[in-house]
Amino acid sequence: MWKSCCKSRIKFFFWLLLRDRINTRNLLRRKTRTLDFYNCELCAQDVEETLLHLFFECSFSQNCWHYLGIHRNLNLQPDAMLLQARENFQSRIFREILMVACWTLWCYRNRVIFDEAPTSFGAWKHLFLEEIMLVRPRAKPSVQSRLDLFFNSLL
Ligand SMILES: [Zn+2]
Repeated sequence: MWKSCCKSRIKFFFWLLLRDRINTRNLLRRKTRTLDFYNCELCAQDVEETLLHLFFECSFSQNCWHYLGIHRNLNLQPDAMLLQARENFQSRIFREILMVACWTLWCYRNRVIFDEAPTSFGAWKHLFLEEIMLVRPRAKPSVQSRLDLFFNSLL
């Protein structure tokens, strides 16, 4: 993870994510912080915003993963799910895509909660494309060409 071409802020965020240390509403509740509402804001599923829900199970994030061509088996434990998704994706840039997707989902979720932005897949997609473009100049040429292939497959 630390070897990825992402910005250190994203690496640190992902390191926290893997340890369930992101301040989801579920984590705030576990820290005994009182909130008015613990449900996920990105979907109308009436489900508590846990880490697993927000990033992998939510209907909103499912659309994002589908768009990126990352298939997840939600019956597996998170570690095994990510390993299998990486194998299926068959590209060295899986790590960068995964980390930027999670980061932009989190940024987007914050906009929806704190700026009361309407939920819009297009708005997340815009954020994702902006952020993944910032990875390109930091990457080796071999990774850059894979990123280019990936961009073209999305358009
Ligand atoms: Zn949700």
